[in-house]
Amino acid sequence: MNQNNPLLQSFEEAPFSKIKTEHYQPAIKEAIALAKAEIDSITASAEAPTFKNTIEALENSGETLSRATSIFFNLNSAETNDEIQEIAQEVSPWLSEFGNDLTLNEALFKRVKAVYDQRDSLELSVEEHKLLEKHYKSFSRNGANLNDEDKKELRNLDSELSKLSLTFGEHVLAETNNYELLITDESKLEGLPDSEKESAAQLAKEKGKEGFIFTLQHPSYIPFMKYVKNRELRKELSIAFGAKAFQDNKYNNEEIVLKIANLRHKRANLLGYKTHAHFVLEERMAKTPEKVKGFLEELLEKAKPAAEKEFKELTAFAQELDGLDHLEKWDSAYYSEKLKQKLFDVDDEQLKPYFQLENVIDGVFTVANKLYDLQFKEVHDVDTYHEEVKTYRVTDANGEEVALFYADFHPREGKRGGAWMTVYRDQEKKDGKNIRPHISNVCNFSRATAKKPALLTFNEVTTLFHEFGHALHGMLANTKYASLSGASVYWDFVELPSQVLENWCYEPEALALFANHYETGEIIPKELIEKIKKSANFQEGMQTLRQLSFGTLDMAWHGIDPSTIKDVKEHEAQAFANTKLFPDVAENCMSTSFSHIFQGGYSAGYYSYKWAEVLDADAFAYFKEEGIFNKEIATKFKENVLSQGGTEDPMVLYKRFRGKEPNPEALLKRAGLIH
Ligand SMILES: [Zn+2]
Repeated sequence: MNQNNPLLQSFEEAPFSKIKTEHYQPAIKEAIALAKAEIDSITASAEAPTFKNTIEALENSGETLSRATSIFFNLNSAETNDEIQEIAQEVSPWLSEFGNDLTLNEALFKRVKAVYDQRDSLELSVEEHKLLEKHYKSFSRNGANLNDEDKKELRNLDSELSKLSLTFGEHVLAETNNYELLITDESKLEGLPDSEKESAAQLAKEKGKEGFIFTLQHPSYIPFMKYVKNRELRKELSIAFGAKAFQDNKYNNEEIVLKIANLRHKRANLLGYKTHAHFVLEERMAKTPEKVKGFLEELLEKAKPAAEKEFKELTAFAQELDGLDHLEKWDSAYYSEKLKQKLFDVDDEQLKPYFQLENVIDGVFTVANKLYDLQFKEVHDVDTYHEEVKTYRVTDANGEEVALFYADFHPREGKRGGAWMTVYRDQEKKDGKNIRPHISNVCNFSRATAKKPALLTFNEVTTLFHEFGHALHGMLANTKYASLSGASVYWDFVELPSQVLENWCYEPEALALFANHYETGEIIPKELIEKIKKSANFQEGMQTLRQLSFGTLDMAWHGIDPSTIKDVKEHEAQAFANTKLFPDVAENCMSTSFSHIFQGGYSAGYYSYKWAEVLDADAFAYFKEEGIFNKEIATKFKENVLSQGGTEDPMVLYKRFRGKEPNPEALLKRAGLIH
């Protein structure tokens, strides 16, 4: 079996057509055994630990495993079925066990630490130093330096925390699913588009009821708040939405929130950090809670006047339209939508004819060519997992191979929603060879029909550029070690290459390259571009304030010692004091359903959404100053950011590109918040 298993052979390009579903499970099992044996041979070595025989050996271990699992999990997202999902259920625990065994391997840690302790006398390159640090920290941040008793305590905290996060999520889900708003009188739904009514009627039918059912799921909730004229009904649904896991029932999350915050704090202390935020931010570009708090405060100071002005305008608009004397939370989406319609009569249908998929793809390739001299040639000799996947050989100005690029653009059964970039082979330098990466973009854009080619909404255009920006980060990688290559960078730095590329979608000079009407060939008119820009900035002040309030709340839970906090709602109200526009709703609480930070991985990380925007705006401002296709700036970006992966601290890399630290001014200007 193993000799015939294509996943266990050495291969250049992923051998998709040779892989059968029954190959995955035995291949992953065998690859884990292989990786274990490689680790064992490191720890069994009689030689004294060195960078080469320990750190580099560790870095190079598990290659078969990583290639097999990258194919498997990429397909589980892009082309899955019941069998593949079952295998994923089966192999995932094997992989987490393998990972845990690795971080708990004391003999291995002893050798890693021996090298780490001599790091200053080893004359390592910057990249080698970073690799050593990365591997050392993967042990130390998981408690490898603790005594046995503290190690046990850490395991207990970890297991309790993972249970609490799980329960937190289950409660939010139960509260979401347990609620429904049944409307039997259709006249109460005035304002709601017919398509939304149909979905609500369909849902009622499925539940064996007459009328229309609305839920707290976003696809149902958001259109309701945006379009339904009936204020009492909006109030009812809004309060239900904000009360999730904050009601007097068995799904209340108040205790859990307090427990999670306190256990995280304890865990951080045990590992030698002042707070959970200190622990998290050590491995982020921002580095410290002080820096994050300063960042949030600076943006708040600048955005608040604009937000207050927009809020006044919205209030006046609601008064003029319906005689409202003040705005409540449940009025925000409704009047904002109306005001937006009044101010900007630009919609998707107007824009789509200018964005034929093939043209946009050519456009993003042309942009990459103008900036980085890349050439894309579609080829048909590369194996793929579906006939719709296109493959391109990417070369540089000298015709040298840069990367292999897979593009999989349309939705299918078996593909999850959204858009993403993924890697089938990392770039690395090994045995004197620069091994080039295999990168993929997967999206869900609507297909061509019998009458029309595939036409993208403007949002889809920016999504395509965004994911292609991630792809460039992967394709242009030029590092020695795979684990530091491409997009393997700190979390608050990873969105810079993707978001910065979105900026080209708003520039007439770039749009002139590809935004041609699919019937007439006419280039998109300047007035339309202006409208797109203006409507993108609509209520930017209020939006910014909202993002800042979430970031501030996150830090209020994770950047302090939470042991003195007694009341969740009260603590939250203090955190929100400076960002509040609407009157508080006593029945509502954000923290009890703030899944990003209490269930997902965003704790002490919510700021990174705005952080990434500051970075991309600041970086793009540099291009704007010198010309959006200026080769010199592009080369600086490639050499200092795109090619460097995680080989150095991101702030160092960024400053080398930009000449200074990022500054929020460019973002505030782009958003129209300052002039
Ligand atoms: Zn992204």
